[in-house]
Amino acid sequence: VLSVSARPVDTSGGLRGAVAVFHDITDRKRVETELRGFAGVVAHDLKAPLTLVSAYGELVTEALDDLAAGAGAPTLEQARKGTAKVLHGAARMQRLITELLDYTAARDATLRVERLSMRALVDDVVVTRTDAPDHQAVSRPDVFVGPLPDVYADPVLLRQVIDNLVGNAIKYTPPGQPPRIDITARTDEDGGVRVRIADRGIGIPDGEHAAVFDSFHRASNGTAHPGTGLGLAICRRIVERHGGHIDAGPNPGGGTIFAFTLPGSVAYGPEPVEAPVLD
Ligand code: ADP
Repeated sequence: VLSVSARPVDTSGGLRGAVAVFHDITDRKRVETELRGFAGVVAHDLKAPLTLVSAYGELVTEALDDLAAGAGAPTLEQARKGTAKVLHGAARMQRLITELLDYTAARDATLRVERLSMRALVDDVVVTRTDAPDHQAVSRPDVFVGPLPDVYADPVLLRQVIDNLVGNAIKYTPPGQPPRIDITARTDEDGGVRVRIADRGIGIPDGEHAAVFDSFHRASNGTAHPGTGLGLAICRRIVERHGGHIDAGPNPGGGTIFAFTLPGSVAYGPEPVEAPVLD
């Protein structure tokens, strides 16, 4: 954006050059987009469950008042339904608040990079995910994990990346077919590692793959599933803070492939380090 322009002239009024000041507003634009997205999410994803929680909270209070006054009692079925709605609403709000906090933490948390076993990390995520049956996945995911090298990364943050990607692979596979996830990796000549997480789910429409990493962005075919559009933005922040990059593309067999790279030890040195906070 051109904010100032000047036409310096000499004493006789002759033009002697031009001065123009340009500002890069990419960052400001990004913050504005984030704030708009945040306002939308608060308005929609927090307000709706909060209204539900308040309404059912009031109903339960009224029912208890009636009970105390001896004026009939709610049936067990009604009471169960009411508390289930309250818990469901609270869980939705909790999920969103956790993701918003993760999103800021992914940018601000001190990065503690160490050499770690990618294999152990992936196994742990897969076991945690497959033991907790996802309400949308009718059958347990069928996960293939290839040989995985050690990587240099922050264990807490990298776990979050893998957890988000595996979680999405399960979430975006239609019920009725067992989610199939292939996790493989290869090491570059410079010791960097590229990890691929492929699924056979609903896929992402052509032309929309890059945008899914923007905060609050959801693909046009994915909105039937609950979500905030923050998970992949968190992944991108984390991977980029490690000096790597993440992208997505169609899986030729149907579904989506997510791939991210992590630099090798040269970027950090073999000892644990606290990497600086990057913008
Ligand atoms: P959320 O799942 O909460 O919406 P994400 O940031 O994790 O947020 O994902 C952004 C969007 O990318 C999702 O809304 C969905 O449309 C799409 N997406 C992510 N992962 C997959 C996947 N494995 N298969 C198909 N679509 C996906």
